[in-house]
Amino acid sequence: MKIAVIGAGSAGLAALRHCTSGTYEIVCYEKTDQTGGTWVYREETGLDRYGLRIHTSMYKNLRTNLPKEVMGYPDYLVPDSPDSYLTRTQILEFLNSYCDHFNLRQYIRFLHNVELVEPSKGDRKWTIKVRNLKENTIITESFDAVMVCNGHYFEPSVPNLKGQETFQGQQLHSHDYRVPDIFTDKIVVVLGAGPSGMDLALEISGKAKRVILSHHLKDPIGTIFPENVVQKPDIKEVTEHDVVFEDGSKEPVDVLFYCTGYKYSFPFLSEQCGIRVDSNMVTPLWKHLVSIENPTLALVGLPFYVCAFSMFDLQVRFLLQYWSGKKDFPSKANMLKEEAEELENRKKEGLGKKHFHLMGFKQAHYYDDLANTAGITPLPPVLTKLHNESSTRFLDDLVHYRESRYRIIDDYNFIQL
Ligand code: FAD
Repeated sequence: MKIAVIGAGSAGLAALRHCTSGTYEIVCYEKTDQTGGTWVYREETGLDRYGLRIHTSMYKNLRTNLPKEVMGYPDYLVPDSPDSYLTRTQILEFLNSYCDHFNLRQYIRFLHNVELVEPSKGDRKWTIKVRNLKENTIITESFDAVMVCNGHYFEPSVPNLKGQETFQGQQLHSHDYRVPDIFTDKIVVVLGAGPSGMDLALEISGKAKRVILSHHLKDPIGTIFPENVVQKPDIKEVTEHDVVFEDGSKEPVDVLFYCTGYKYSFPFLSEQCGIRVDSNMVTPLWKHLVSIENPTLALVGLPFYVCAFSMFDLQVRFLLQYWSGKKDFPSKANMLKEEAEELENRKKEGLGKKHFHLMGFKQAHYYDDLANTAGITPLPPVLTKLHNESSTRFLDDLVHYRESRYRIIDDYNFIQL
């Protein structure tokens, strides 16, 4: 079986680690010149020298929002060190050491941008068109199966605001944010209170005169913010120099900083692949992973608020159970039914399509389901426990939560040091 992996970020590396056992012929295409995906920091924004949009959303001072104890792979942990919350450089080093430990680099074709994936006519294979960026040539190759590992933090989602086009100040999405100095002495509205909005409100508060965190959560966030950070509801309208909020208050503002998240995007998948993105729900997929129309196509890494690297590993092991023939996929009707039921259940919980891939406090259920369904080694429950503990601490005390240090003592328990 010949498998293509698209992307050599942490998901693509997990795919390679399990596909290089000798049973499979494997090729990984990576459009940049490095492994690590979004963990590769680049000062520049916009287009790269090949005219492609810079992929990474990493900023200079980023420290992880999860402890390293939950950021390893099941068979390759982040090495011990005094801190639990690491820098972006430490995570990138870790990913490179994973890559070297399992000898994965030999399978990666760097500076190869996948431009098209489509089902081949007449057989059950996939045709992939790839641009060799250095030579500016197109290569066409055929595969039995494809793992898409292209990430989902590169296509900014920017809201339409009334009066947005008349605003005379600066507008920036977090994808293009690198250093806080650009906000020195400015009044900044941070839109969105997800992990990025919260972390960036904290980070830029050290430079900005005033940070206004605008969000649509029902109640004010109860965490401890620095003194110059205030919360406001959603924006009602923007004028040349001011922002009017839903509560009727009006503030003079220098910068609209969109921390409004990203859209799932698979620009290289042809329509015949049968994958749609509907209100940011990627569909039709079995278990957030397998294309129901064409089960030899899989999209690894879609769920968010997860123990990412371990989940990637689990998803890849799940796939290989089916692609190797050890397990049979359910019927198309049953897979569609399962997806519809999950959507229905989420709707009952007040989560729409936009949050279909959100796992968060329910991630353990997803992991156990994958492991039980495919008959593979599950993820240790302690990962979810510690993830939840960290998320709770983050929500309680944004300023200090990274000072906590943890140690995992067995599959079920961790201690705080
Ligand atoms: P990516 O890392 O985005 O890798 C995708 C790869 O695919 C890239 O190398 C890209 O160049 C390549 N690619 C894309 N399109 C093509 C194409 N057409 N052809 C060839 N190659 C292609 N997670 C945590 O667990 N803890 C954290 O603290 C944390 N902090 C984060 C902070 C920020 C600012 C961001 C943006 C994310 C953070 N995450 C964090 C989530 C992070 O995205 C995941 O941990 C993980 O790195 C995602 O890996 P990935 O391989 O799915 O995607």
